[in-house]
Amino acid sequence: MSTRRQFLQASTLLGALGSTAPGLLASPRSGKEARVVSTWDFGVGANQAAWNVLAGGGSALDAVEAGARWAESDLCNSTVGRCGYPDRDGVLSLDASIMAGDGRCGSVAALEDILHPISVARRVMEQTPHVMLVGEGARQFALQQGFPQQKLLTREADAAWREWLKTERYAPQINAERRGIPGDKDNHDTLGILAIDTNGQMAGACTTSGMAWKLRGRVGDSPIIGAGLYVDNEVGAATASGMGEEMIRNAASFLVVELMRQGRSPAEACQEAIQRVVRKRPEASRTLQVCFLAMNRNGEVGAYALHRGFVYAVCDSRKQDALLDSASVYASTQR
Ligand code: ASP
Repeated sequence: MSTRRQFLQASTLLGALGSTAPGLLASPRSGKEARVVSTWDFGVGANQAAWNVLAGGGSALDAVEAGARWAESDLCNSTVGRCGYPDRDGVLSLDASIMAGDGRCGSVAALEDILHPISVARRVMEQTPHVMLVGEGARQFALQQGFPQQKLLTREADAAWREWLKTERYAPQINAERRGIPGDKDNHDTLGILAIDTNGQMAGACTTSGMAWKLRGRVGDSPIIGAGLYVDNEVGAATASGMGEEMIRNAASFLVVELMRQGRSPAEACQEAIQRVVRKRPEASRTLQVCFLAMNRNGEVGAYALHRGFVYAVCDSRKQDALLDSASVYASTQR
């Protein structure tokens, strides 16, 4: 029940934020309000980086890239960027995608040795005729584009991997840190970030180190346009975090945007997409986390998750560090 209550509170707050209250950053030309939203608590920092761009009149595309870069540099995050946990062979490989509301997009998957996969994804979008580059090809492209090569695996991530080798048990956890499990770091999450700028242009970005201890070569949903991220200026934008295989099976972010196109609010669209995950794999859905975050072209925001514990950050000219609880199907995160 408390989850439902929190959801209502969040909806009410965002309803207010979505109104035409005075003081919101509005362009005299379009009257659009800028807003940026991100997955998880580390989304607060990512939003601030993005807001610095939006508040200066910058584009949604530049804003989401800045937010994603902030998360990729974060020294406290075991699930995104330089401090991410590696695969089962002890290799850190990163996935990222970026999409503009006019349909331009780019992504990289299983990228090694490069600090900012999101910026490489943007170069794929802007400098190549392709959408996605993977593995060694993506790395070579990044080097040709002038990105420095860096050994990224931290001492802490390497130690966690060595500890994991004692059992070699692939066991994705549901919100481990947020459940306060002593000594446990989250072993998967994603920074998904969506923005609308004062010209009414939308953009999104997604960046992650994927599932800790994944098979070498595994690619999650985050770099797959339509799975981990989808943006359409006509409707809105969606992003995802959690067990990427479920997002890929359901073309989930595309699904959320299409549900909004059919008239659902962002929260309703996320909820219906989550229900589809449950209907397809009811047993599995009890043991894994899936979370959706969406914003429509009016700047209204909604989220839904399988399990309690998903939080998302909202930032606009009124409040830069709002962190809200998502509603969920299951109240318990115990497995
Ligand atoms: N969606 C990411 C992946 O499957 C992980 C996560 O966000 O929890 O790679």
